[in-house]
Amino acid sequence: MGRGNPGQRSARRGTRGVRRRAAPPERSPRIGALCGPRLGPPGRRRRCFRRRAPPHAPTRTALAPPGRPTRAAERADPTVTLDKIDALALRIHPYSETSQIVNWLTAKGEPLTTLVKGACRPKSGFLGQYDFFYTCELVFYRHDRPDGLHIAREIAPLKTRSRLRSDWQAFCGASYAGTLAAELARSGGAHARLYQQLEALFDALQVQSGVAALLIWFELQMLGLMGWAPQLNRCVVCGSAPPGDAWAGLAVTLGGVLCQPCRAARRVETDAVSAAGLALLRRWQTASSPNAALAAPCPPELLLVSRRVLGRFLLYHLDWMPRARRVAWQMTSGGKHAETKPEGFPR
Ligand SMILES: [Zn+2]
Repeated sequence: MGRGNPGQRSARRGTRGVRRRAAPPERSPRIGALCGPRLGPPGRRRRCFRRRAPPHAPTRTALAPPGRPTRAAERADPTVTLDKIDALALRIHPYSETSQIVNWLTAKGEPLTTLVKGACRPKSGFLGQYDFFYTCELVFYRHDRPDGLHIAREIAPLKTRSRLRSDWQAFCGASYAGTLAAELARSGGAHARLYQQLEALFDALQVQSGVAALLIWFELQMLGLMGWAPQLNRCVVCGSAPPGDAWAGLAVTLGGVLCQPCRAARRVETDAVSAAGLALLRRWQTASSPNAALAAPCPPELLLVSRRVLGRFLLYHLDWMPRARRVAWQMTSGGKHAETKPEGFPR
């Protein structure tokens, strides 16, 4: 019995168990080019899972360049543009059961209000992406609507600052500072420096404990940005610089300190500030960062005098006073509510 050629047997073993693939069905070249390779059995579509960034992950979005609206938005309204900018989340309001309105201060120092659709849905992509005092990268549709409301498309957190939502003194300070900055920007003082100073304050509140001193530094910086900085080195009338305690006080209506002769001649109302208080105010005014402002020791009595004087300056120029200022000072500078912990704060 012939067993055949050994070379032929080894060739058969080598092909044992290997199934020959069926030839792919012929398709029209035009349809194949449109559909691409088929990944599953015909009639079933493969599910695609979109990767979602974990909450609090400081990642930036990779999107199309800003300024180009989507086709749907372009069809709906040709004036809608897609914009991307870093911004600080200052306020969050409910809009409906599932949507929220967020007030931002952008990196250009402009106040911005966005509607975040479906933010409270269980599977919303916005969950954990923004909260009070976050620095976020915001992608939104810029609408030219009379109510000034824009539509958020994507939000990615860059800085979360957890202490500002757990330490109630830091929360009150950040809330007041954000309110003041937003109102100044809304009243015509929009400037990138406004955003930078507010972000520097938030960063300092995250790690520092001197909330009252930080707020005085911030108010002096805001007055300087608006062109309302009090003149603290020379008399606002005669320009002299008397030494020590020869100052008559600080005249809010004139915008700075007065010497004794000028006060007697003008008969204007002044706030008494000691030489040590004036020196501290000068130091805070020229401090370029919150940490530099905190380097100087600050007795509680000087804090109260500085708070009163700067409050009168702000009221004189703004014609109104944010209610958040009174709350922040009561909570941070030894007022009667300083030891009262608001509800919802763990410590
Ligand atoms: Zn003078």
